Amino acid sequence: MKIDILTLFPESFEYFNSSVIKKAKEKGLVEINIINIRDFSTNKHKTVDDYPFSGGQGMLMMCQPLFDAINSVKTSDSYVIYFSPKGRTLKQNYVHTLYEKHNHLILVCGHYEGIDERIIELCVDEQISIGDYVLTGGELPAMVLTDAVLRYIPEVLGNENSAVDESFSDNLLEYPQYTRPAEFMGLKVPEVLLSGNHKEIEKWKQEQRILQTKKYRPDLLDDTKK
Ligand code: SAM
Repeated sequence: MKIDILTLFPESFEYFNSSVIKKAKEKGLVEINIINIRDFSTNKHKTVDDYPFSGGQGMLMMCQPLFDAINSVKTSDSYVIYFSPKGRTLKQNYVHTLYEKHNHLILVCGHYEGIDERIIELCVDEQISIGDYVLTGGELPAMVLTDAVLRYIPEVLGNENSAVDESFSDNLLEYPQYTRPAEFMGLKVPEVLLSGNHKEIEKWKQEQRILQTKKYRPDLLDDTKK
């Protein structure tokens, strides 16, 4: 899988140089390119933003640098996502759809008051939001989406099953987990987990997934909200 991220703040992506994503890059399981939109500005001052015609507050990212940056990496195979609070809210099942359907994602990070609407019309396949709040830029959403998508690539998690019974698979949350010691501050690990009885442990896990979901996210069990 290839992910090209277009940003005015490439230094934000230090996150990709650690942990699971770093290893995935090193193993060649994913190619991630961080592209500085400013490099595409034809203006002698390398300007990338301008005042909105509507007046109002703040600056807008202008067309030319963004248009050229997107087209420098876009092919007939690419899927271009612009991060925006107006977009479709990202959910686990849609992360999976993106992983299954696309080999090449182009992620456009807005900044300031956002981008010129014509770039959305001309170049963007879909707008995605990571939640109903406003962030300073699309860099955190790009990291969130990249991280979530990469977890579906076989071998990225080391253990192929790691993503299978995690929260949100089958619309259920994960069961509670425990490590040593078997008792801490008077609280004991559930007996069944120490029993070595794999069938009983699997049964317990499935029951707990339903109980945890009922407790923390009952909306996930409501078919009308899926
Ligand atoms: N003026 C815009 C509005 O009211 O919708 C907000 C612009 S925001 C300050 C700057 C950039 O951050 C956006 O262009 C977008 O790329 C990104 N952004 C902010 N909140 C986001 C969210 N919840 N999901 C995805 N991207 C977001």
